[in-house]
Parts: sequence; C-alpha cells; structure tokens
Amino acid sequence: MDEPIFKEAPAVRAAADVRMRGFSHRATVQQVLAWLDQQPVTESTEMVATIQAAGRVLCDEICSSVDVPGFDRAMMDGYAVQARDTAGASMYNRLPLMIVGQSLPSVGFSGEVQRGQAVRIMTGAPLPAGADAVLPAEEVTAEQDRILASGEVPPGKHVGRRGEDLRAGAVMLRAGRRLRPQDIGLLVSTGAVSVPVRRRTRVRIVSTGNELLPPGSLPTGYQIVDSNSSMLTALVVRDGGEVVAVDRVPDQPSEILAAMRSSADIVLVSGGSSVGQEDHAPVLVAEHGELAIHGVAMRPSSPVGMGRLDGRLVFLLPGNPVSCLCAYDFFAGRMVRQFAGLSPEWPYRQELLPLANKLVSMIGRVDYARVTMRDGAVIPLAIGGASMLSSTTVADGFVIIPADSEGYPAGHQVRVYCYDGPTTAVP
Ligand code: AMP
Ligand code: MG
Repeated sequence: MDEPIFKEAPAVRAAADVRMRGFSHRATVQQVLAWLDQQPVTESTEMVATIQAAGRVLCDEICSSVDVPGFDRAMMDGYAVQARDTAGASMYNRLPLMIVGQSLPSVGFSGEVQRGQAVRIMTGAPLPAGADAVLPAEEVTAEQDRILASGEVPPGKHVGRRGEDLRAGAVMLRAGRRLRPQDIGLLVSTGAVSVPVRRRTRVRIVSTGNELLPPGSLPTGYQIVDSNSSMLTALVVRDGGEVVAVDRVPDQPSEILAAMRSSADIVLVSGGSSVGQEDHAPVLVAEHGELAIHGVAMRPSSPVGMGRLDGRLVFLLPGNPVSCLCAYDFFAGRMVRQFAGLSPEWPYRQELLPLANKLVSMIGRVDYARVTMRDGAVIPLAIGGASMLSSTTVADGFVIIPADSEGYPAGHQVRVYCYDGPTTAVP
C-alpha cells in the first residue's frame, strides 16, 4: 500500500528573493498542506434560482412549505369507487357499477361517489369525494353507462395520498448538501423559487509570459499558446469556482502586480513562479504581501509558491503545464473547493490495483506519476516531463509516491486517482 502524504508539520516561510540563486530550501508537501489548512475560508451565501442551482452547495436546511401532492390522486387509469362495492368481484362474479362522471388531471369530479357508483379517472387526477380506491381499467369491462368490475380492491388501493411525497414543514434537504438533479426537481415541486447556496469561489487567473498567445491562436515562431489558463478555468469550474477574469500579461512586474491585486477570493498565477530572472511573481508577493511558501519537495511542480496579497490567497503555479495541473490539484484546488463549500479532498475516483512494472521514485520528494490501467494492473508512464501535457491525456490517472519512498516493485498495490472519474460533477 502507498503511504498517506498528508501528515502534520509546521509551515515554513519562504525567502524574499531567490532569483538566480536557486531554492536553498524546499517545503514538504505536508508543510504546505498544513499552511493551507490554517488559512481562513470565506463562507459567503447567495440566493440563486432553484432551476439554476444544480451542483451548488446548500447553506440552510430547506423545509417544504406545502404538502406534495396537495390532494389525494389516482395512481392508475381506471375507475374511482368505494372499495367495499368491489368485494367479491372476479371474472366469474362481475359486479355492476354506474358511471356517474369523470375526473381528469387538474379538472376533477365535482360530485360525490355514492355506493354502486364509479367515476372514470386518469392517473394524476384528483380522487373524487366519496371514493376510496381506484379500480384499474384492466379489471373492468366498460359498457355504455356502467362498468362490470371483475376485480376486488381494498380501500386506498391505487390512491396517492396528499403529502405522501412531502409533508408541509418536513425537512427536504440539509445544509451542506450539493444539489443533485433530483433535488432540483423536489425543490421545484414544492414551489421553491430560489435557494440559499454558497457563493462560487471567485478566482482570477493571471497567465504570465512574453511568449504567450491567447487561446484560439495557432502557435507560430517562438510563441506558444496559453493553454494553462484554459486548463485552470476548467479545473476551477470543476471545483465549484468561477473564473472572474483571465489576465494575460507579459513578464513585467508592474503588470503582474496590478493583475494579482484585482478583486477575487483566490488568485492563480501561471508561469514565472521559479527562480529565473523573469520570475517576478514570487518577489512581488514577498514585497507587497506574504510569500509563505516558495519551492516544494515534489516532482513535478517543485517551483510552486503561495502566500497572501491584499488579504487574498495567491498561488504561483509553474508554467510547465503538467506542473501547473499538479500544483493546482495539490494546493490551489483544495482551497477553491473549500471556499465553495466542498470537501477539500480530491474529486477523483480512487482504485487500488497492483503495479504491472516497478515505479521508481526518489527519497526526499513527493512524485506525481502518470499511469494507465490495463487488465487490472497499473502501468507507470512518467514522473518527469513536466512540459508534456500529453502525458496526462494519455494517462488514466496518477499515483502519488510519498517523500519517504524509493518507489514500488511490480505487483505492489497502489492507489490510482482516476482523471476521468470525478466523485462529484460540477455544472
Ligand atoms: P515558466 O514557469 O514561466 O518558467 O515557464 C515554464 C515553461 O512553461 C515554458 O516553456 C513556458 O513557455 C511554458 N508556459 C508558461 N506559461 C504557459 C502557459 N500559460 N501555457 C502553456 N505553457 C506555458
Ligand atoms: Mg515564463
């Protein structure tokens, strides 16, 4: 079995400017998680239209204001009768009942069913006064103005009682519930027009790099297309957040700082997070806020940083796309989900399977190994290659190798986090 990667440890403070000096110290993944778990989580509420609330997290308990259904109704097409009038009816003892009217959905029958009488009724139509059961059409021979009952029904048969789905005042859904499609249906059935939910985490993405072209461009010359901002947007939406803006800025300190300072709950900066001459964001966060973490003992994503600026969380994600994905998943996503009222844990389905080949790692760092699964076994693909995003699209998922492990032999059972298997879907 693989070891847990989440252990308690004190957080460390990053050095202010490590440009071109390399990382003298790297925090452990556990230290980073411990720092994140100390950060305040804003819990804001908003009212949203019930019909648009699927996937949102309820803030309050919701009670039904009405009985559902609001009336006794037929559950079958047939005849509303007094059950006792059918006592003893069979194919060999057909009992006559007079048809005195009909009850259709929403229209009903205004009279009262007396002994010896029947009212033609459709599924969903109100049960007329006086009747206490519905005799299904299959158990009846209909004539001009009467029926011959060939079956017996007890009182209450094929009748849906008022309030049998929901009673007025009953708790329908509890606070913290992530609304499912059927929850939306239930809420709407009670007339609930809007519901109180956690506000989506407002995330600003700042994509840095002189070489970046906007999504939708064809890469030309020495330029590449900014794929990270689109990938991050999809990750944020998956985690219950909304991207309020994507700022694409050159490696210019003043522009990066201005973009990082604009309003949001969480700022994700892509690129320029390391110790190169063009890596400005860590210095800016250290100078104008608090750079709590810079450099983590993991692969990929080692040049990740994070801290606070103007009271909000800032994540400095490496530009290499696999590092960007991994750093988001390890650290930023944890906070995006919590601000949205969701569990901090990964929204990935997990599978425990044996390794087909050995998986080699290095002591002292956490490794994020992309793997495929074939015939019930796990095939390692890559640990390095942070620039090759295709390693994550070919992969079925990933395996985390903790810092104190050199890896695992073939046959060792590992936990695979499956990319395609979110335990929760987000609209
Ligand atoms: P950096 O983290 O800025 O040093 O960038 C590391 C590598 O990631 C470089 O090859 C960049 O060109 C690439 N890169 C940076 N930002 C992005 C982005 N938004 N989308 C795709 N690749 C990027
Ligand atoms: Mg860059």
